[in-house]
Amino acid sequence: MHETIVALATPPLKSALAVIRLSGDDCFDVVSKVFSQDLTKVQKREVFIGKIVDKNNIIDEVVLITYLSPRSFTGENAIEIISHGSMLIVDEIIELLIASGARLALNGEFSSRAFLNNKIDLIQAEAINDLINAKTREAKKISLYSLEGKTSNLVWPIKKEIADLLSQIEVNIDYPEYEDIEEVSRSQVVSVCGEIVRKVATLIREGQQGQIIKEGVKIAIIGKPNVGKSSLLNAMIGQEKAIVTNIPGTTRDIVEGEINLNGITLQILDTAGIREVNNEIESIGIAKAKKATAEADLVILVVDATENDDNSFMKIVEEKKRIVVYNKSDVVKNKKSNGLYISALNKDIEPLLEEIIKVLAINKEAFDQPSLNNARQLGLLGSIKENLLLAIKDAENNQPIDLVSVSLLAAYNDTLEILGEGNKNDISEEIFSRFCVGK
Ligand code: GDP
Repeated sequence: MHETIVALATPPLKSALAVIRLSGDDCFDVVSKVFSQDLTKVQKREVFIGKIVDKNNIIDEVVLITYLSPRSFTGENAIEIISHGSMLIVDEIIELLIASGARLALNGEFSSRAFLNNKIDLIQAEAINDLINAKTREAKKISLYSLEGKTSNLVWPIKKEIADLLSQIEVNIDYPEYEDIEEVSRSQVVSVCGEIVRKVATLIREGQQGQIIKEGVKIAIIGKPNVGKSSLLNAMIGQEKAIVTNIPGTTRDIVEGEINLNGITLQILDTAGIREVNNEIESIGIAKAKKATAEADLVILVVDATENDDNSFMKIVEEKKRIVVYNKSDVVKNKKSNGLYISALNKDIEPLLEEIIKVLAINKEAFDQPSLNNARQLGLLGSIKENLLLAIKDAENNQPIDLVSVSLLAAYNDTLEILGEGNKNDISEEIFSRFCVGK
């Protein structure tokens, strides 16, 4: 029995219309108590125009759509009420529905029910969140691929190939008297797993690119005081003024600006403060640069081209993906042949932007293909790869075949977990809590 849940599906703001959503076995009964027409005998997807009433009081005139289980987003009986977009009306309707037997939905509970009722797999459920949070058209596009199930289709063949191999090994274990079969399957393990490992490695590569398109990259601009970091930040943000977004609230502490560079969101981390330090407290500046560097995916180390090289900052970025730029090219005469020169002051930073695109190395195709592109999916792909490599190693070392099958089984379980077919209830709670109510 699924309790009937209710939530506002549109933003809680004054607008022309608002959508209130309900899902649950008895949602037709619940809504009938407050609607001017009887919905308890509804047999199909239907649209009604009627009134929401509290006893004899008319609350609003609404459009109402009924969805019969299993042909709804959640797979349960469901209703969408399109009311007028006054929060007063919305609150009254929701209170009335709660008084009639519904309860307020938890964060992501609609999507969670769709997942638990097998209407969507976990990758699709995650895509709903990604779609809503997408900041660029490109991010939206690849999230849609996942929602359509195209990303899940990348996992199915891998799952099947591992399952085929596993079942074949089961035969070996069950009929050990056929020694020949065991020999064959060891070399088969090596070749079949090797092939799957190659496919998984490609998926990981594509997924990492998809992750950058979807989530953007964090960039720290670091360097000594007065080399032109702030000027560079301004030049970068100014380049794309129309699509600059301010980061609201708490993240403001660490993020200075956000730009969209060829469809990739660059979050530029704040290293302000470094410029204020003098020699005695330079360590504070360095500490700040270190922190920003640790958080960043890519570091831009700004060097004043009019000064001699100074290696103090180079050490910080040694282990990091980085770009070294020589700023103030407008006033320097002798340029190093292999240096990347810009003038932040003149907003002449094109070479740097080109270099960023080059360093991120996003293939054109990555914008146009489904990929397993969040940390959870990528982590599990990594685990599949490791388990398969272990199986290969054990097979090559002539280990007992049942030991080989342990690693294969672990890889198989990873594929289930990517799709959310493992322990459904455990993971779903964690994932859906990140959603907002009404989703
Ligand atoms: P920060 O301390 O590293 O953030 O450096 P600022 O951006 O505040 O710049 C320090 C000084 O260098 C300021 O006087 C800027 O006008 C100047 N400056 C920054 N970039 C350039 C540049 O490309 N060319 C020239 N000539 N001066 C620059």
